[in-house]
Amino acid sequence: MPQAFDVVVIGGGPGGYVAAIRAAQLGFKTACIDNFKNAAGKPSLGGTCLNVGCIPSKALLESSENFERVRHKFGAHGIAVTQARIDVATMLARKQKIVDQFTGGIAGLFRKNKVASLHGTGAFKAKTSDGYTVEVTDAGKTEAVQGKHVVVATGSVPRALPFAPFDNDAILDNAGALALSEVPKRLGVIGAGVIGLEMGSVWRRLGSEVTLLEALPGFLQAADEAVAKEALKVFTRELGLVIRTGVQVTRIEQSAGQMSVGFAAEGKDEQAEFDRVIVAVGRAPNTAGLGAEAVGLDIDARGFVAVDAHCRTNLANVFAIGDVVRGPMLAHKAMEEGVAVAERIAGQAAHVNLDHVPWVIYTSPEIAWVGRTEQSLREAGVRYRAGQFPFMANGRARALGEPAGFVKMLADEQTDRILGVHIIGPFASELISEAVVAMEFDASSEDIARIVHAHPSLAEVMHEAALAVDKRTLHI
Ligand code: FAD
Ligand code: AMP
Repeated sequence: MPQAFDVVVIGGGPGGYVAAIRAAQLGFKTACIDNFKNAAGKPSLGGTCLNVGCIPSKALLESSENFERVRHKFGAHGIAVTQARIDVATMLARKQKIVDQFTGGIAGLFRKNKVASLHGTGAFKAKTSDGYTVEVTDAGKTEAVQGKHVVVATGSVPRALPFAPFDNDAILDNAGALALSEVPKRLGVIGAGVIGLEMGSVWRRLGSEVTLLEALPGFLQAADEAVAKEALKVFTRELGLVIRTGVQVTRIEQSAGQMSVGFAAEGKDEQAEFDRVIVAVGRAPNTAGLGAEAVGLDIDARGFVAVDAHCRTNLANVFAIGDVVRGPMLAHKAMEEGVAVAERIAGQAAHVNLDHVPWVIYTSPEIAWVGRTEQSLREAGVRYRAGQFPFMANGRARALGEPAGFVKMLADEQTDRILGVHIIGPFASELISEAVVAMEFDASSEDIARIVHAHPSLAEVMHEAALAVDKRTLHI
């Protein structure tokens, strides 16, 4: 008889491991199946986020930012450093140590919460009278488990260009981009989205000449247009990234140790030579090997597991969460869906408001936003008021030596309810939380304007942006 569980979670990334922990907390006998193996060939929980995504990228961003500070920013403080150099092996070892601590930490959390951790690929086998049979296969061995409820949290995989498969030597996906053993002299990055910009920033700060080739006609079109404009200015003029938009990459050829990238731009064919190329053109939902067809699990036209607003699939007691379903491909969205699904299985009411999921890009300066952009409000004909305040006029930002950027708040013209907040500047990733909380509580810009913000703090820029909505800033 296969081992029987109340809840079987397939995938141990931020969606899956959080769903499993919450289900176990709620008293369900829970198993989590995950097939990720790290570069050393060992099972490693935490999915893309902990192994080859959020956490290692932030570790390398910090290392490279420190290198940048030593070389270009310490001088202003009177700190002289001669011949700063980066030891990439040490930087990578630090990154891996952080990853190993966190992935090992998930294994510890599973033990603490009595989640059965099963290593292997989970595939639906059959629908039974009391749930589903899921087979777990690793290294040719298969065992079956039985789940009353199943949560699919199989995440996403990097999208490859059809003519340039990843080899993680010359043509790199996110895992390869986070593991380069030396700083390439010339680095091409295809796709100037979140991952392309973060990875491009890391290697640029460490000394690569970095060129980003983006297909869309504009830069960072998902962001508020004022933020995108400021970001383009800082990234090109200060950081030295070369960013080309409206570029159609048509071929990548390797010869004599270098990569030749052919592309069409403004109707002309061009070519650029690189030592390494990172392909960061987006991620695809991962349903390979899941056995969706064995039980008739609906997959939509774009390859996502089809779900309703409550992450319910077309099958009774089967839920799907995270990158494998609609909505932003972000770890915090996956985690909150994991909690919500476990609570729904327990018969509780749960909600995840996809309209208020914060977006963050960990460049320098950081970019973060929540809610509507100014251009989307204009297009929808919503009448709004905008308030903007620069970090340049903030004492803490100046003391930090990080004066670039601003906070922009958009509020409904009639009700003053906050519709969107957009930040480019230091610690935008932290500052955005105030806006998320405010919007979840339906706050108005006047509410933020009337709240006491510590001085001197970066949060004062949020305060002033709220005052700016009513044209009554105090410090500008
Ligand atoms: P995943 O993390 O992809 O986990 C899915 C897991 O399921 C994997 O371990 C996979 O091996 C396993 N699996 C798949 N199929 C099966 C199967 N059939 N059986 C068993 N196991 C299976 N998001 C942020 O919010 N902030 C960031 O700063 C950020 N930075 C990122 C940086 C990079 C370079 C990348 C690539 C991504 C980043 N993301 C970030 C996105 C974030 O990593 C994802 O949104 C998040 O990991 C999605 O979580 P998930 O649980 O849905 O899937
Ligand atoms: P993200 O979805 O944030 O990971 O970003 C992926 C980026 O890659 C987006 O800005 C896309 O417009 C861009 N992109 C997608 N396909 C291509 C392509 N073939 N060439 C260049 N850029 C692309």
